[in-house]
Amino acid sequence: MATSVCTRCGKPRIIVKSYEEKVETSTVTYTITECSDPACQKMVNKTLLTEKKKRQFIKDEQVKREEARKKVIEEKKLHKNDED
Ligand SMILES: [Zn+2]
Repeated sequence: MATSVCTRCGKPRIIVKSYEEKVETSTVTYTITECSDPACQKMVNKTLLTEKKKRQFIKDEQVKREEARKKVIEEKKLHKNDED
């Protein structure tokens, strides 16, 4: 297995967890790696959390927009009935 280096600081990443999972007919090995520098890893975790929150925010906004769009369609339908 190729050892990976941290994209932040260039230090080697260490495997903290490794597990196998059966996917159809083959077994896939998943490895969770962390930076060997705990301080750096802390920053990485922080960035990941920020990214996660950002993605969640975008997702929420999309849901809101979709609901607003549906509402507009519903209202248009109602108005159409008014005209009839
Ligand atoms: Zn690092």
